[in-house]
Amino acid sequence: MTFCCHGIGISTSHSIAIGKALILQQGQINIPQRSVAKQEVAAEIKRFQQAVNAAQNDLKAIRDDLPADTANDLAEFINTHLLMLEDQALNDSVEAIIRSQNSGAEWALQQQRNELVKVFDAMEDPYLRTRKDDLDHVVNRIQKNLLNPDDDGLEDNLEGRIIIARDLSPSDTIVLRHRGIGAFITEFGGPMSHTAILAKSLDIPAIVGVHAATELFQPGETLAVDGLHGIATASPEQPQLDQFKKRLEKERGTEQTLLELCKIPPVSTDGQPFQLMTNIELPEDIAVSRKHAASAVGLYRTEFLYMNRSEPPTEEEHFAAYKDIIEQLDGMTLTIRTLDLGADKTVDNLTPTSSNPALGLRAIRLCLRETALFHTQLRAILRASAIGPVRLLIPMLTNIHEVEQSLKIISQIKQELKVEGIAFDSNLPIGGMIEVPAAALDAARFANMLDFLSIGTNDLIQYTLAIDRVDDEVNYLYEPLHPAVLQLIKITISAARSAGIPVTMCGEMAGDPRLAGLLAGLGLREFSMQPNSLLKVRQALLAADFNLLQQQTNDVFKAFEEGNNNEFVEKILKIVH
Ligand code: PEP
Ligand code: MG
Repeated sequence: MTFCCHGIGISTSHSIAIGKALILQQGQINIPQRSVAKQEVAAEIKRFQQAVNAAQNDLKAIRDDLPADTANDLAEFINTHLLMLEDQALNDSVEAIIRSQNSGAEWALQQQRNELVKVFDAMEDPYLRTRKDDLDHVVNRIQKNLLNPDDDGLEDNLEGRIIIARDLSPSDTIVLRHRGIGAFITEFGGPMSHTAILAKSLDIPAIVGVHAATELFQPGETLAVDGLHGIATASPEQPQLDQFKKRLEKERGTEQTLLELCKIPPVSTDGQPFQLMTNIELPEDIAVSRKHAASAVGLYRTEFLYMNRSEPPTEEEHFAAYKDIIEQLDGMTLTIRTLDLGADKTVDNLTPTSSNPALGLRAIRLCLRETALFHTQLRAILRASAIGPVRLLIPMLTNIHEVEQSLKIISQIKQELKVEGIAFDSNLPIGGMIEVPAAALDAARFANMLDFLSIGTNDLIQYTLAIDRVDDEVNYLYEPLHPAVLQLIKITISAARSAGIPVTMCGEMAGDPRLAGLLAGLGLREFSMQPNSLLKVRQALLAADFNLLQQQTNDVFKAFEEGNNNEFVEKILKIVH
């Protein structure tokens, strides 16, 4: 029977896949409740340790096998799971259960898993609470090695299969990709979840957040996955199938055509120039950015420099990291964002626990509290500005006092460097991220104090619509086209234009080709996005008439102001395809 299911589509360079469904029943491993004789306890503990070692070796092999151009997020996910495998809270306790209860290793592991899940469930921090998925991925991997080390239950060749699972661990996703899967559908996850990030990095069409997917679809039935629109069609009729096939063929030819577009200067059909920039986290992201003709780095997230270490980086470490990137960019501007730790980006010893971390001591708030931390990074950024073109970007501003304080600290550091005879760019542009509604409404004052603005829509949407961006349960409310979000973007762009300063958008919205026309209509000319999104946004903007889009966008707002909702929807749909 033909039917469709909707979820959240993850836009990759390939969005369509047609194949046979394969349902993964993770977490349903049959755990034998076995006991062992007293004299077998030592051997059982050894068996458990061997399974843990084997799980570690599996993960290391997967990590070492990652293609060089894979986003670093993947290696980080695997490293997190490796750390969990080394965790004594897991290992010692399982061994203690085997000893005290004469339990088989599988059942001891399951009991300890259940205890740890209770601890996760009791956590107040919603992000940490969701990390129990990581625990299950790790436990399942050990169980697989205990039960049948040579069989992961999957065929070696999964060419073109559509995987349906409750959730996928990063390592499983990589293994599945190596075996040639065509797409995946998961029950959990939202547009900014780990699974979604993975799908983008690995360029696999995907739909996440399809509740009950493992029960709705039948193993072996034909599925057509439309990752662009987030629609999975089960057993499509021949005419539908023909349409999907046509789209698939078109997509295959598209990447080559899109690369050709890089040769065309970034100018709209009515002669207005625009800029396409890239968001990077690591030097490795530069290669794809170059291939896809980014003109600058619009956002360099520096948080990764602080992760997986016990002490924050020294000034020299910061400087070396920036120097390396600036040299690779060879004259392209690098926008370095100062530390945005807090909320979902936590680091032991640095980020304070908070009952509501997204609203707590995050980003610039943390930097202005821990000024030594801020000072170290600012000195390194200023020193790096002597090597090549650099811009400095301050995240999560809420009020202009934060700008005043930051500018004061920067000017003191410039003074210090002068006295020390250390070179820096005295005109280093200093910008602010507009990602809190209060800052957007007050954008004119920010624009008068800063050299450029950058709109962080991931957080702007989170804070405007009051939805935690990592909470799966409220992802259905994530709506970039909400009139409140659009108004805040409009206010910010107008404020920057009136002040005569550049304004970039660096949230995920900027990398969505469907929204490119609307943003251009709102006056946006600088778009910064994941390197993989650059080609399609370029294509959309090259084909656009910005003057016409501006008129159409004005009409959208007029309909909204007149309270005519049907007209608002109708008019916005003309611009957003
Ligand atoms: C944003 O909030 O839109 C943004 C670009 O920053 P991050 O996703 O790092 O919070
Ligand atoms: Mg942000």
